[in-house]
Amino acid sequence: MGYSSTMESRRQLFAIIGAALGLTPVVAWLGRSAPVENASAPKRFPVTRSDTEWRAALLPAQYEVLREHATERAFSSPLNHEGRRGTFVCAGCGQPLYSSTTKYESGTGWPSFWAPLENAIGTSVDRSFLMVRTEVHCARCGGHLGHVFSDGPKPTGLRYCMNGAAMKFVPDA
Ligand SMILES: [Zn+2]
Repeated sequence: MGYSSTMESRRQLFAIIGAALGLTPVVAWLGRSAPVENASAPKRFPVTRSDTEWRAALLPAQYEVLREHATERAFSSPLNHEGRRGTFVCAGCGQPLYSSTTKYESGTGWPSFWAPLENAIGTSVDRSFLMVRTEVHCARCGGHLGHVFSDGPKPTGLRYCMNGAAMKFVPDA
């Protein structure tokens, strides 16, 4: 009798015992063969640095937002008032993130945009602070940028609520 058929008969045995004991859900869980993604495993990004390297490369306020998911104090970023034409880039790796043409005044005290540049960002589910929010990070270095909400203006209806400390502004030449 081969390994797999041994496993199969063991599963059947467990299933019979489990059903008898009313433990069918437990048996189903034990029998699950698909690998479960480790949610805590770090994602791989094109730009990776050690924590020591990030600390050395970034200002404390940038580090706290980009690497520790802090949120800057509302109305604290000079980028709130940045009205020139240009591009907002990642303060961690220089990746272009948002065009000034998608920036708008949301009244929240954080630089807000209704769309990112193509392939500039990634998102993840953020369950901190008893909320379910969509976290936004740089697609290149994984640095935390802010969150995206569905109460933005047309044409997307999205509000990309960014930390100014996570970005730098590069005016058009
Ligand atoms: Zn970046």
